[in-house]
Amino acid sequence: MARLARGARVETIRLEIPRGATRKIVADVILAADDPRAFARGSRFMDAMDASCNTMPFPRDECIGSDLNALGPHTISLGTTTSTIDLRAGPNIMAPIEHAAVQIEAIRKEIAKLQRANDTSDAGAARLTKRRRQAQVTMLHKRLARLRVDAERRVLMVYLYAVHRTGAVHTSWDSVEVTTRGTRGILANAITWMPKRRDLMAEFEAWAFDLVDSGKIERFEGVIPVSPCTGNVCDDCFACTGEMRRTRKTGIPYHAFECTACGRQGDRHQVSARAAALLLQRAMQSGTGR
Ligand SMILES: [Zn+2]
Repeated sequence: MARLARGARVETIRLEIPRGATRKIVADVILAADDPRAFARGSRFMDAMDASCNTMPFPRDECIGSDLNALGPHTISLGTTTSTIDLRAGPNIMAPIEHAAVQIEAIRKEIAKLQRANDTSDAGAARLTKRRRQAQVTMLHKRLARLRVDAERRVLMVYLYAVHRTGAVHTSWDSVEVTTRGTRGILANAITWMPKRRDLMAEFEAWAFDLVDSGKIERFEGVIPVSPCTGNVCDDCFACTGEMRRTRKTGIPYHAFECTACGRQGDRHQVSARAAALLLQRAMQSGTGR
């Protein structure tokens, strides 16, 4: 409907014959538009976030850095060159992402259970039971995919909102590629999906430019992939000395940070995001960025 309001028109409507117990009629609507802006990504979320998060403090800065992690409470951390950003300082804007993570985990377990049941049932097991389980697995995979797409959009929204509030012109994208290839079954379940894919970076950039067009972001010049070599680097020391030294204390909890050189303590991912912002700033100053 929102797209129709922006000038898209209905090209075709296809109705599916009612099937199943619910007798639901499914309508596929194909939209078309001469002006591609009819399909522009939405900007209304920005107003909603402004209304609920206006008391959250955000430093003003030209550069913002990011650290992306497994889906859950640490999915996205952000920092500018001058400070880390606590995304939990106001209403928990990560809540929808955390909720999706819990749902995804539950579905993955359910899929594993069904697959195990099919793998271990003997040849004599009813073919119908097996096929029913397989159909259920297919349906669960579809739900999983939808949840991921939604969670990814929300990660982008949090980042875009921070770009809006910090006034950042340059943004970094944590560019590590993660693969779960070669892992199977229960082990694969333990490895959680991470939103680091390159096409997501492109989506982020395109959306940011859309928001500049609609006046929700002041100035934005692009996103630059930054290698995630920052997990063990102290942001305070990096800002002071200009050197990236791995001074994170060993043996402390995974998400914690403590610097063996200056004693700085904090959240590891926020520290990492600020280090990325500092790296980005140096890249822009030395002209190696775009
Ligand atoms: Zn330090």
